[in-house]
Amino acid sequence: MLARFTPGPLVRWFARPYVAGGSMADGLEVAHDRLDRFGALATLDLLGEGVQGAAEVLENVATYIELIDALGTDPRFADRATRPSISLKPSAFTTGDREAAYEHLAAIAARAKTQGVAVTIDMEDHPWTDRTIEWAVKLFEAGHDVGTVLQTRLHRTEADLQRFPAGMRVRLVIGIYPEDDDIALTDKAAMKVRMLDFAKVLLARGCFVELGTHDEPTLERFLREVAPGHEASCEIQMLLGVPRRPFARRLLAGEFGATVPFRLYVPFALGWDDATAYLRRRMRESPNMMWLVLRNLFKARKAK
Ligand SMILES: Cc1cc2nc3c(=O)[nH]c(=O)nc-3n(C[C@H](O)[C@H](O)[C@H](O)COP(=O)(O)OP(=O)(O)OC[C@H]3O[C@@H](n4cnc5c(N)ncnc54)[C@H](O)[C@@H]3O)c2cc1C
Repeated sequence: MLARFTPGPLVRWFARPYVAGGSMADGLEVAHDRLDRFGALATLDLLGEGVQGAAEVLENVATYIELIDALGTDPRFADRATRPSISLKPSAFTTGDREAAYEHLAAIAARAKTQGVAVTIDMEDHPWTDRTIEWAVKLFEAGHDVGTVLQTRLHRTEADLQRFPAGMRVRLVIGIYPEDDDIALTDKAAMKVRMLDFAKVLLARGCFVELGTHDEPTLERFLREVAPGHEASCEIQMLLGVPRRPFARRLLAGEFGATVPFRLYVPFALGWDDATAYLRRRMRESPNMMWLVLRNLFKARKAK
């Protein structure tokens, strides 16, 4: 409700901490800044909510190709180990027919391979689940550095774990899309327990686990109970603007047991309309976000 009726300029104001900016250069700059200051890795995501027509699909493909080439040639990211990866949503590459997205994803993955850029195919709502896993595994098995995402809220995910070959990257998240209770859990605490259980299964299969959560107790348990002994196959990921600094600092310092890489999901838009749409989605998920932003702002003012 709040998300729908908040005026665009206000949404844009609130978007600032969560979106790198209104251009690709802004995304690259934020990625470099966080790497330089905190040693945080990044995955860059073009915000393209609701594709309107074939021309927009081609524009999204062209933007990702441009982004990949920028990452491969930018001297700030010359080190392959700290070069940002890219994240993308299949729905940005079709006007309706889901199958049509594959050829674009394959073209992007091929270009990414030539530039040494890793690709993660984000997971959307349940009609996409099967295809997304199938495509990601197919591209990985063809020799591309492609990973994908599993949502622990879905009941099917436990069986889906078995589809991932050794070496493949899998981001585990609770899932942002509300799903009916016949196919998904509705209890967040249970989804988070599954994150730890599923991480163990994936590590036992030889997969690389990326834990995508801001839930501090879950992160702490992951680092103390799951990651030790698997440090080379684990990563923690959070959304730009969400992590609390003191906690992130302790996490990067290895205070919770295992020390693993930390990656920020850095969305950028080409223009602020897409950025506004992204923030409305985040506000629907976390209505108290506006108050968190306000609180942080006032804290910052007092500290000056
Ligand atoms: C790197 C990354 C990639 C993701 N990719 C996908 C994907 O491909 N598909 C998908 O369905 N979902 C994706 N998600 C979203 C994920 O599924 C969750 O919806 C989201 O991370 C919130 O769940 P949580 O585990 O952080 O737990 P929560 O219980 O929701 O959050 C824990 C605490 O973090 C804070 N917090 C969480 N989210 C926000 C926010 N947006 N703004 C402000 N504070 C917040 C709150 O203080 C909250 O108490 C991704 C998340 C991350 C971090």
